[in-house]
Formats: sequence, structure tokens, C-alpha cells
Amino acid sequence: MECLFCKIVSGAVPSAKVFEDDRAVAFLDINPINPGHTLVVPKEHYPDLLSTPPDLAAHLMTVVQRVASAVLNAAGAKDFNLGLNHGAGAGQSVGHVHLHIMPRRPGDGHQLFSGKPYEAGEMEEMANSIRAKLK
Ligand code: 5GP
Ligand code: ZN
Repeated sequence: MECLFCKIVSGAVPSAKVFEDDRAVAFLDINPINPGHTLVVPKEHYPDLLSTPPDLAAHLMTVVQRVASAVLNAAGAKDFNLGLNHGAGAGQSVGHVHLHIMPRRPGDGHQLFSGKPYEAGEMEEMANSIRAKLK
């Protein structure tokens, strides 16, 4: 059974498409955090970023740059968050890789990220562990 975003790419499910080229499509999110919230997806199905070929992932970023500029102009905003939820634990609900372009305004009430400092020594330990696992 084809996934929702494959159906949007093919037109089997209607969407408000704002951009299309040979490898990617951008369309408005049906449940925007702010007006103009746009999703950029590859036409080919890959479940998530880490399974997407690097040249296609790079192309998606060039589409983001082009489309985000138009989204901001149209939405009358100058700032945006770029989002990618990787896996259910990170909030991914559609298993077809996609980038969120989310126009933002000061005081719009959204709090996407919050953090807390490492305990002593933990940051260097984590950095060492990541360096050791790089392929
Ligand atoms: P995720 O949570 O996987 O990162 O994001 C999926 C996004 O797809 C959500 O923001 C959700 O609002 C959007 N979405 C879900 N179903 C549809 C749909 O049928 N059409 C459109 N345009 N967006 C959808
Ligand atoms: Zn798909």
C-alpha cells in the first residue's frame, strides 16, 4: 500500500503544491504551526533522512532554500524553523522523508527546543563517543 506522501506526489491525494521539479515536491502542511508551513519531499520514497541517498538529501536542501524564500515573502514573515522528525520517538508520523519549513514570528508562542546543561565531564564523553562511531 502506497504511503500518503507518495499519493500526494502522484496527485492521487490532493494537496496545495507550491513547487515541483524532477526529484522533489513542496506542498502546504494540512495542519500548519503558522500559515505557510510547507513540506519538502522527494518524489522517490525513502522512509527517513538516513535512508535517503546523500545527493538527493542535498537536493532537498537546495529546494528548501528556494521555497523558503517564497514562503517567507508570501507569509509576511522573515524567520523560519527548518524541521525534520526522524522516527516515531522524534515525532515522525509519515514514513516518507520530509522537511518542514515553518514560518516564525517573535512571540508566536511556539517552543520547539529546550535543553539542559550536561553534568561535569559528560559532554566530552559524548563527543568522544560520537567521534569514535563516525564512519
Ligand atoms: P511528521 O510528524 O511526520 O514530521 O510530519 C507530518 C506532517 O504531515 C504533519 O505536520 C501533518 O500535519 C502533515 N500531514 C498529515 N497528513 C497530511 C495530508 O493529508 N496532507 C498534507 N498536506 N499534510 C499532511
Ligand atoms: Zn512515500
